This record gives sequence, C-alpha cells and structure tokens, in this order.
Amino acid sequence: MADITFNSPALVILLGPPGAGKGTHAPSLGSHLLIPHISTGDLFRQNICNRTTIGIKAKGFMDYGRLVPDEIVLEMLFARLKQEDCKRGAVLDGVPRTLIQARAIDREFSKTHKLNVILLTLDESLLVERICGRVACKQCGRPYHRKYDPPKNELCACGGTLVQRVDDSEEVLKQRLEIYRRQTEPLIEYYKPILQEIDGNQPKQEVFRNIIKNFTLEPIHA
Ligand code: ADP
Ligand code: ADP
Ligand code: ZN
Repeated sequence: MADITFNSPALVILLGPPGAGKGTHAPSLGSHLLIPHISTGDLFRQNICNRTTIGIKAKGFMDYGRLVPDEIVLEMLFARLKQEDCKRGAVLDGVPRTLIQARAIDREFSKTHKLNVILLTLDESLLVERICGRVACKQCGRPYHRKYDPPKNELCACGGTLVQRVDDSEEVLKQRLEIYRRQTEPLIEYYKPILQEIDGNQPKQEVFRNIIKNFTLEPIHA
C-alpha cells in the first residue's frame, strides 16, 4: 500500500499505453489527493495552440506519434513542478516516458518527494476502440469517448468544444504503440519495487476505485 502523507510531497506517476485511462483518472486522482495533475501531452497541446517555441518544436514529433526529445519535456515539466500549486506534489500523466526522463525525475525529486507509480494495463484488443473513439475538450483537455463516455450535446462539462486529436488515428496509433513498447515499457522494470498494477480494462468507476485503494490519506497539516 502506497501511502501519501501530507508532511512530505508526493509524485504519483501514471504509466500505461495510450488509451489505458491515464488522462481520464489523473484529474480525479489529483482532486482526491488534493494535488494538481500534470499531463505533458496537454501542456504540449496548449503550447501548440499558443504557438510558443516549445509548441512549434513539439508539434513535428507529436503529429507523427513520435516522442518529443527528453530535454524539451524535462524543462517544461520541471518549470511546471516549481509552481506554487505543486508544493505538495502532483499526479503525472504521460511522463516519464523514457528511462532518461525517469532518472532525471529521480535525481531532481527523490530526496524531497515520495514517488508512487501506478501502471494501468489495457488489453491489446481494446486499444484501437479506446483511442479512435476518443474526443477531448479543447479548453480543459478532459477526454470523452463516443461509446463509453459520450459527451452531452457535443460539449464538455466545462462548456468547451470537443475535438478528435490529429494523432488519434489508427495509423499514428501503431507508431505510438511501437514507441510505447520500445521506450516506455522498460519503465515497468525500472519502477518494479514501487509499482502498483491496476486492470484498466474494467469500467471507469471500478478502475478509479481500485486506483484510490492504493492510497491511505492522512489528515492535512497545513
Ligand atoms: P490515456 O490518457 O491513457 O491515453 P484516456 O484517459 O484518454 O487514455 O482514455 C482513452 C479513451 O478511453 C477516452 O476516450 C476515454 O473516455 C476512454 N476510457 C477511459 N477509461 C475507460 C474505461 N475504463 N472504460 C471505457 N472507456 C474508457
Ligand atoms: P496519450 O494520452 O495517448 O498517452 P499524450 O497526450 O500523453 O498521449 O501524449 C501525446 C503526445 O505528446 C505523445 O505521442 C508525444 O509525442 C508527446 N508527449 C507527451 N508526453 C511526452 C513525454 N513525457 N515524452 C515525450 N513525448 C511526450
Ligand atoms: Zn472541458
């Protein structure tokens, strides 16, 4: 059982293939643990929207399902984690994705933060349906699913419009999966001693119940 105490900050890492449910559960897990959630994919998409230097650099990799280079990811992530709202830690969605990123996070935070790693698994047979049915809010990033989590009136709960990501096509998914297997899956071995595996094939509510079972919350001492 991984326990989060509020006396030491925590980083909760959500690992898993595209479609496993990281983006679905990161915000609610963050609210549950009273820490923000950070999605590097969402941060890059915001940067692309705002046409920043990071966004321009990242787009060329993202559109083809390739990983954005580690230096760019780490600089953006560490800058975000230094912000005031992250002083008690954060839930990380989609990062680390390489051993270099994992080691850099360890170097920077292992002395001050408690690390928890959750692996969401997903059967091969469900991958395409999950990804190709996904639509996400342009404004807040919240994912919906045409079949499993249909949006009301084609809008997000926040009022934002829903769009399908350019990289959520069957063709780009193939590339993303191959990269996941080659570059991200080795992290399962790397984090073995602290990793909790959760069956991501179950319905959303059940997956969430199983995720939060891993945390005992202590009272907050402000
Ligand atoms: P990830 O961030 O790991 O790539 P998402 O959280 O965006 O995955 O989920 C991918 C798609 O699958 C989304 O459309 C989401 O609504 C849907 N989804 C997530 N969890 C479940 C689940 N347990 N059952 C059915 N659909 C799900
Ligand atoms: P998914 O929900 O399918 O897991 P994300 O939204 O997390 O996808 O990421 C979308 C894309 O953003 C990735 O395919 C990759 O190009 C880029 N990206 C996001 N996070 C990272 C990271 N930690 N390292 C490298 N590239 C990243
Ligand atoms: Zn929204």
